[in-house]
Amino acid sequence: MPPDCQNPKIGENWTVLFVSISNSLRTMPLIVQKFGGSSVADTQKILGAARKAIRAAQAGNQVVVVVSAMGKTTNQLIALANEITERPSYREMDMLMSSGEQVTIALFAIALESLGYKAVSMTAAQLGIKTDSSHTRARIKSISTERMRKALDEGKIVIAAGFQGIDDDGDITTLGRGGSDTSAVALAAALGADECEIYTDVDGVYSTDPRILPEARKVERIAYDEMLELASLGAGVMHSRSIEFAKKFRVPVQVRSSFSDTPGSLIVAEPESDDPVCGAAISKNEARFTVIGIPDQPGNAMRLFSAIAEAKIPTDMIVQNIGVEGRADLSFTVPATDQLAAFDVVNTVVKEIGAKGASSQDDVAKVSVVGLGMESQSGVAQKMFRAIADKGINIQMITTSEIKISVLVSRDDAPEALRAVHAAFELQNPPKRIHPLKSQPSTKLEGHELEISRLTGMEDIIIESIHCNREESRITIGEMPDRPGIAAEMFEKIAAAGILVDMIVQSCGREGKASISFTIPRTSLDKALAVAAALTEEWGCSLLLHDPKIAILSVRGTGLRSHTGLAYRMFKTLSDGGINVNIISTSERNIGISVDDGNGEKGLELLKKEFVGEMM
Ligand code: ASP
Ligand code: MG
Repeated sequence: MPPDCQNPKIGENWTVLFVSISNSLRTMPLIVQKFGGSSVADTQKILGAARKAIRAAQAGNQVVVVVSAMGKTTNQLIALANEITERPSYREMDMLMSSGEQVTIALFAIALESLGYKAVSMTAAQLGIKTDSSHTRARIKSISTERMRKALDEGKIVIAAGFQGIDDDGDITTLGRGGSDTSAVALAAALGADECEIYTDVDGVYSTDPRILPEARKVERIAYDEMLELASLGAGVMHSRSIEFAKKFRVPVQVRSSFSDTPGSLIVAEPESDDPVCGAAISKNEARFTVIGIPDQPGNAMRLFSAIAEAKIPTDMIVQNIGVEGRADLSFTVPATDQLAAFDVVNTVVKEIGAKGASSQDDVAKVSVVGLGMESQSGVAQKMFRAIADKGINIQMITTSEIKISVLVSRDDAPEALRAVHAAFELQNPPKRIHPLKSQPSTKLEGHELEISRLTGMEDIIIESIHCNREESRITIGEMPDRPGIAAEMFEKIAAAGILVDMIVQSCGREGKASISFTIPRTSLDKALAVAAALTEEWGCSLLLHDPKIAILSVRGTGLRSHTGLAYRMFKTLSDGGINVNIISTSERNIGISVDDGNGEKGLELLKKEFVGEMM
């Protein structure tokens, strides 16, 4: 037990997890190896995977293997249920789907025994992987390690069923499709493993999807925060909740091929280099909504998003135009599969709040670049916009966060936009200066034990900080021509004037006009206004607004987006306090909201009160 838990001030109200954070009792190194469905698709492959586990054991490691269901088994099981009904109950779906992994663990243990090794297979109930009761998308609360340790100490290789858990009533749960990555990293965290190896059918993490761009580069290393963004942007290599675990518990993860011995890509705390961008992603299945003429009062945007959140539809890329004549436009994207459902919700709210109308389109795709380095470097946005402009591709929407820039383009143009951006940042080549990996991040880091001991559940949101930046100004240009190259020109000129831009949003065009807002340090306002004024004149647009004093409220932490309700809680808290939200910027680890300067301190207090339970 972490020493601080004996301190009643901290220990009393927190359930201490069965997380073995200290490796001190263990002399042998321990590794967790996870084999995905394609790596255990048939018995020959299971034997191949078993040999990898044996090699790790022979090298002097204790080994825990986590497996998925064989090949496409989970899909087949779901199809069986759907032959009977389209709406099977979630509890029984979990009972059904979890059976796939149970087959694999048994066969894997049989394979190891046939090769002369001691092995034991265990289901989640036997392992003690406790989850909440949200069937088909359960979250892990705790893991007990005693039984695993006992088996390991007896010299056995432990084969754990991925994807499944057990709730307080003893019912079987599953963690959501692709969830065995999360099982593996969670077990590694609980055991304080030295590494978690994810064996899959690709040999690592790529700078972008190599099926779309064959020139994509396999990265040697990528930071947790970068991987989290890429995973949630649909990079598809790993379940994004598994990366949250890895980050929270500092588990080094290696993604590597099951079918070769080449080293894979390491996911750790430190990025590979200072380069601003480490990867690019494309997400083709997006639908865009625009609601026009929303009466610009606190609470209206809120009503829209609460209705969408209630319908369990995730929203992304939210851009609100600054209100003109007391009315604002709002655009956002949702997964294309949710377009119909969202359409009904949006139309209902449009009537309720007296907006002028709404439209939606699904022929769009999102292209994003990600990198920790962009936090401290300027010029990333304009380089991306220029690359896209030079292909004659129109940018329909822009949103940024401190480590990610996303643009919405037409779906047909998206692969070309991705290729152009990938080339502009030279992502096909290794970084010029690779930082040597300093220290293996470790579950034993100072202070980290305390952090973990304070969680009531292993997958809880952690909020690290809430702050208010009152050093920024905002500029908005409306009625801009909606054509390729506008954003590129704008931000090239701003950068040429030596101005660092923070948030950028561009709304999608209406009647051939678009609008852009961005924030800059207050000290640069005059210079930026001069640039903007010259451009608006050149483009003949009538609208140049600015707000010399804005405040940006940020909430930073882990799990902000996978816990979908959080951004919504932030809006609601501010809206209930009568505070109007201007610009929104979201990443996996940060949600930023710009408000009027006068509301900054009040907003900060409200947010601190709202999130007190999740604060570190
Ligand atoms: N077998 C589960 C699925 O197909 C879990 C996994 O493969 O990670 O979603
Ligand atoms: Mg998988």
